[in-house]
Amino acid sequence: MLRHNQKNGTRPLIGAHFSSAGGPHHALEEARDWKCPVAQLFTSSPRQWKPYALTTESVTRFLELQKETGILAVSHASYLINLAAEGEPGVKSRAAFADELRRCQTLQIPLLVVHPGSAGARSVEDGIRQIAAALDEAYGASENTATAVLLETTAGAGHSIGSRFEHLADIIDLSRQGKRLGLCVDTCHLFAAGYDIRTDAAYHNTLDALQAALPLSRLKLFHINDSVTGFNSHVDRHAHLGDGKLGLDAFRLIMQDARLAKIGKCLETEADDKRALDLKILRSFSEN
Ligand SMILES: [Zn+2]
Ligand SMILES: [Zn+2]
Repeated sequence: MLRHNQKNGTRPLIGAHFSSAGGPHHALEEARDWKCPVAQLFTSSPRQWKPYALTTESVTRFLELQKETGILAVSHASYLINLAAEGEPGVKSRAAFADELRRCQTLQIPLLVVHPGSAGARSVEDGIRQIAAALDEAYGASENTATAVLLETTAGAGHSIGSRFEHLADIIDLSRQGKRLGLCVDTCHLFAAGYDIRTDAAYHNTLDALQAALPLSRLKLFHINDSVTGFNSHVDRHAHLGDGKLGLDAFRLIMQDARLAKIGKCLETEADDKRALDLKILRSFSEN
């Protein structure tokens, strides 16, 4: 029953990350007010371990709004979770992640984005194995089989896993969850990790590299952000569209790629007075 309610017809699936301060239903209200058919949100505080109790009122309102508006809700997992960690941090991370999955079940959220994790002093291969096992454990513990987990591409800072498409393909291959796992591509992280998308040729090369690692059907979401830092910088800092080193052509290429028409495109730029312009830019690209 976690199917996305398709009331939006052919509207381009453009959205943003919205605040769930005061309860997750606030994020859907905001998305509705911004006329966004896609809303990303946190179902708990992203920088605290303390488990977050959803109130009955917020859950009820959230489910009503989902039905009324047909908004595709996407949950972003806590930044503290590191599914590649061992020992105590690993135990904490896996428990918190199982809670993330449970809250998605309660709120009937079909997609949960997570940063794969950091291998620390161990090899990337060991980290990848650990992440695949952690995903299996979380699904086993939560009874939620309807929410897909999307592994997000990372900028490749430090020992973070996920800066290469192959890392994410290997996690998916090693996990028993198969069809439940997908990919979330963040344009800022992609560029910072050394995948260029600034020109037509570069964009197509990057899409080819993705498809060499994984079928395009695994790609379920884009995070649309310009990048403050340069190509291959391995630094994750989001900029408003056109204000960063990526430039507007990259976003036009994504918006106008017919293969990606049914995939949600979610802004994660700062929710300041430039948000309206970011949305306007994306919408203008999907009109022609
Ligand atoms: Zn993220
Ligand atoms: Zn980022």
